[in-house]
Amino acid sequence: MQRQPEFGTFFLPGPTEVRQEVLAAMLKPMIPHRSAAFEELFARLQVGLRDLFQTQRSVFLSASSGTGMMEAAIRAMPAGRILSLVNGAFSERFAHIAEMCGREVDRYEVPWGDVHTVEGLEPYLRAGKYRAITVTHSETSTGALNAVRTISDKAHELGVLCLIDSVSGLGGAELRFDEWQLDYVLTGSQKAIGLPPGLAFAVASDRVVSLANQATERGVYFDIVEMERFAKTNQVPATPAFSLLYALDVQLDAIRAEGVHARWDRHTAMAHLTSEWADTTAGVSNIVEPQFRSPTVSTIRLPDGMNGREFVKRVGASGITVGTGYGKLGDTTFRIGHMGDHTVETVARCLAACEGALSA
Ligand SMILES: *Cc1c(COP(=O)(O)O)cnc(C)c1O
Repeated sequence: MQRQPEFGTFFLPGPTEVRQEVLAAMLKPMIPHRSAAFEELFARLQVGLRDLFQTQRSVFLSASSGTGMMEAAIRAMPAGRILSLVNGAFSERFAHIAEMCGREVDRYEVPWGDVHTVEGLEPYLRAGKYRAITVTHSETSTGALNAVRTISDKAHELGVLCLIDSVSGLGGAELRFDEWQLDYVLTGSQKAIGLPPGLAFAVASDRVVSLANQATERGVYFDIVEMERFAKTNQVPATPAFSLLYALDVQLDAIRAEGVHARWDRHTAMAHLTSEWADTTAGVSNIVEPQFRSPTVSTIRLPDGMNGREFVKRVGASGITVGTGYGKLGDTTFRIGHMGDHTVETVARCLAACEGALSA
């Protein structure tokens, strides 16, 4: 087998670095999925997943990447227009999914790096007859964090549902499904939860599940009504991705040992360290205003004339992987994913490598 490097070298904003113990868990043998053994595993995973989402409700498990549960969210919505809050590539993807699922979609767009405000949202909600809004919690293409609680509250005030993509948020950025009375939150395994890619998770409120019963084009694979029905007996509708669930089992134990709140604090500390470095290093700057920065990912603008992709290669030569800027930001920025099982110590090592590449 390939020798593993020491943990703390891989800082993509997804997939993030996975600990050896978690990778090793995937070597366990298969079990039949219509069995007491699976139901026991499912029930145990629910305990940890509910803690991550801060909910008492069932957490749906999907053998897909996060995008699958974005599509599930749209398909669960009964007829009506969708308003998509767009401030980067992933929030644009949510709008695109809604369109490709045959929905009428309007966009409330702000520049990349910005966040959405309730003042900006209100006129849209008053003007249109929307069934739901889509919003991205941590916009991974820029590192901006939307205040999903206040956005959701405003939507509810005006009778609109709020579908939240927290793929790079959940497990790293504070989110409390029950206390904040959220409608639908989805995430993926490979970002702040610190697992390999291939699993998606979502929670839907009771109201969303009953409304979904009236949605006529839910399809089959991403139908939350079926997921909810099966979850009641600790089951899933189709064959689960066992190997990834074994990895999840081990990771949820580690998350329980650390504590979800402590995990949020650790992510905040990593983001602060990264911000402080960018704010005090000549020639570089975080593209997001300090009060809107995500705890899990930062996009750093490089000095004029320094190419983003070449910079990432130079950092790579020192054994540290960082991300290129997303899409149109690729030439002028780079991204650091400080999420999952990274710590202020590993992030400090990453920043030292970036510092070295700046002066090389
Ligand atoms: C990574 C990401 C996605 C897409 O998730 P996949 O797992 O690649 O399908 C969607 N939204 C956000 C905010 C992301 O960071």
